[in-house]
Amino acid sequence: MAVNINKETCIGCGACIDTCPVEALKMVDEKAVVDAETCVDCGACIDSCPVEAITL
Ligand code: SF4
Ligand code: SF4
Repeated sequence: MAVNINKETCIGCGACIDTCPVEALKMVDEKAVVDAETCVDCGACIDSCPVEAITL
């Protein structure tokens, strides 16, 4: 499993990147992308997103 990131909603602020304890998030073309193999579904990034682009 992994969080879902809505590419339409993401504004590329990068806030979620720093919150991930396992570094599962990275920026690609100014959008956040999750590595499903690495994500442990902790949910920390969800609250960090100002536009609610991340869901579990
Ligand atoms: S749910 Fe947790 S592990 Fe997965 S991308 Fe978000 S912060 Fe990282
Ligand atoms: S915090 Fe939200 S808007 Fe900012 S980069 Fe992450 S998913 Fe995109």
